[in-house]
Amino acid sequence: MTAPGALNSVVGSLYVVATPIGNLDDISARALKVLREVSLIAAEDTRHSLRLLQHFGIATPLGACHEHNERDEGNRFIQRLLAGEDVALISDAGTPLISDPGYHLVRQARAAGVRVVPVPGACALIAALSAAGLPSDRFIFEGFLPAKAVGRRSRLELLKEESRTLIFYEAPHRILECLQDMESVFGADRPALLARELTKTFETLKGLPLAELRAFVEADSNQQRGECVVLVAGWTAPETDQVVSNEAMRILNLLLKEMPLKRAAALAAEITGERKNVLYQVALEKQKAESQ
Ligand code: SAM
Repeated sequence: MTAPGALNSVVGSLYVVATPIGNLDDISARALKVLREVSLIAAEDTRHSLRLLQHFGIATPLGACHEHNERDEGNRFIQRLLAGEDVALISDAGTPLISDPGYHLVRQARAAGVRVVPVPGACALIAALSAAGLPSDRFIFEGFLPAKAVGRRSRLELLKEESRTLIFYEAPHRILECLQDMESVFGADRPALLARELTKTFETLKGLPLAELRAFVEADSNQQRGECVVLVAGWTAPETDQVVSNEAMRILNLLLKEMPLKRAAALAAEITGERKNVLYQVALEKQKAESQ
């Protein structure tokens, strides 16, 4: 950080500061120090952030940095950074840039040679994953699914055979439709978890197979309120004694979209040299799993 009286020829730093996602005690000591000491805080919603800052007795000036002005106004922040001032970037909750504004400002800052410093802290997807009990060694974050049913379903279709744990953000008024679509695309038995109101009074983490989770949310309108993260276990290949190569599986899947199962297995065997009856069995199990 620029020491008082430092020369303006020293370029300032842009601090990307995580703020709480509910429980204010989750703010870090380092975040508070940075927010207190920078010259300016770029905030998604200045009125919202003012309340947070007031709670911690921080009087640093705020400037708006939201999705509508970020590209154009980013330059204003860059000028101040280049003039030697330190700036902090915060969003309404959690880590900036994670389904939140900040990407353009960070890009612009880096392009201008400004040091960008992460000040890590709360992030809903990581909090949910850390307590979900689903495989966490590999996962993908999908952010928000498309709001309209057609777009949402086609996105889910693309993820159907993704083997890593899937993480989604969802708005409460769409949670039920979202779970219904997940159930029909990923199958009723796929393990999933709904993490609601993390770090808040009504925090709920409910882990169930998709059909049961959908029914649980359907039966209780309270579950359709508040902020939520949905986690879905990755796809696991249908169990078979025989091992089929990834390439044979890819070809088989392509052919299954175009022709009957028996023909697809025969053709895939011809192309890949794998045994026809093994491919037939794999295709059969896959079809069975999908129709459940
Ligand atoms: N930047 C934030 C982060 O680091 O997680 C995410 C911001 S995004 C605009 C807001 C979404 O994050 C919500 O719709 C919800 O899906 C998720 N989220 C934020 N706070 C949450 C909480 N306390 N519990 C569950 N989900 C939360």
